[in-house]
Amino acid sequence: MEEARPYTTTRPCKGCGEPMIWAVTPAGSKIPLDAEPVSRTLAGLRPTLYRVEPADAMLGEDKTARAVPLPQDAPEGHLSHFVTCEKRDQFRKGRR
Ligand SMILES: [Zn+2]
Repeated sequence: MEEARPYTTTRPCKGCGEPMIWAVTPAGSKIPLDAEPVSRTLAGLRPTLYRVEPADAMLGEDKTARAVPLPQDAPEGHLSHFVTCEKRDQFRKGRR
């Protein structure tokens, strides 16, 4: 049943309640991505947009999806929730 899902499950952000997809970047860090993709126009030029690859494209038992950074000219993608979260200051204090 889980295999039929396009992504790993979304979870609400503890700060603002928006749905997020937890994913791992190629560098191996875990980041929360906004569940809804946005257009480059909406995101602006600066932030990195990501494509989400389902967990089963990765190593067997790890259920975390993979966040693949997109080129600057990609028309749309998922933003890191750290970029969009209105409560992001909370995380900066809470973690690290
Ligand atoms: Zn949030």
